[in-house]
Amino acid sequence: MNKVDLKLMDDIKRIKQEKSIYIIAHYYQRDEIQDIADFIGDSYAMAIAAKESPCKTILVAGVDFMAQTAAMLCPDKIILSPETRATCPMANSTFVEDILDYKRDHPDAIVISYVNTPAEIKAVSDICCTSSNAEKIIRQLPEKSRIFFIPDRNLGINIARRLGRIFDYYYSSCPIHARVTKKEILQLKQKYLNALVLVHPECDPEVVEIADYVGSTAGILKYTCDSKASRFIIGTECGIMHSIQKACPAKELILASSELICPNMKSITLDKILYSLENLETVITVEESIREKAILALEKMIEYASA
Ligand code: SF4
Repeated sequence: MNKVDLKLMDDIKRIKQEKSIYIIAHYYQRDEIQDIADFIGDSYAMAIAAKESPCKTILVAGVDFMAQTAAMLCPDKIILSPETRATCPMANSTFVEDILDYKRDHPDAIVISYVNTPAEIKAVSDICCTSSNAEKIIRQLPEKSRIFFIPDRNLGINIARRLGRIFDYYYSSCPIHARVTKKEILQLKQKYLNALVLVHPECDPEVVEIADYVGSTAGILKYTCDSKASRFIIGTECGIMHSIQKACPAKELILASSELICPNMKSITLDKILYSLENLETVITVEESIREKAILALEKMIEYASA
């Protein structure tokens, strides 16, 4: 860590203390941002942390749908984003008209939207999910129900296979997790003998098939620390390596590809966070007519996930 970053970190810690601002960060954030956060988690844990935040003002270090989700779940709190251009290409590939067309053709189907969607998409969905709770939620839905899973096709297929079901899918996926390939994993397994392969369910189904564990970022972290094994090939965005290494420093971690970097997550920097805290910018709000519909899908997710 250089001197400039250390100074920025000190300033951030002081200002958030003075102004009583709670910083929630995703595991894909830069190492130094994880180090100044009050809470680090996957998107589900971030949503719950926002709801339970001890402070009235929350800074969300993550992409836009994460700050939007916090704003919808906490209308009485001030939600700050340090970089409003940090977005998710997968979330942005969904269109309300597509969902409405599908619903018109399949009025009895249940629309499940991954939390990686804009508020407008959540507003026309029946229930939200994250990679950590999707399976649990779908198990509680009527067995014969027709499900439209949006927007991540890989996540949908991987869950459907585990449950022995077939869903209707939206044709989108995460461009970062698409960089994990079966070929590269097999090469790494030959090079790093006895390494366990842990991947995120946004990875291609053929990658998931050869993995020893499939789970959310929080799940991968927990699995690594709890496992008796000592060497792991990690198939998700590189930011998780920092949190795992801090939680269990004796474990050997190998990233499944050197290209597992989400530029949107990494566009948030310490100086942007400091500016955001000093100026209380940018406040994220969601239009009430959208929020009142989207919150139903989010609250249903929380209800089913905590059942
Ligand atoms: S890692 Fe993938 S799903 Fe997550 S924000 Fe980046 S592009 Fe979106």
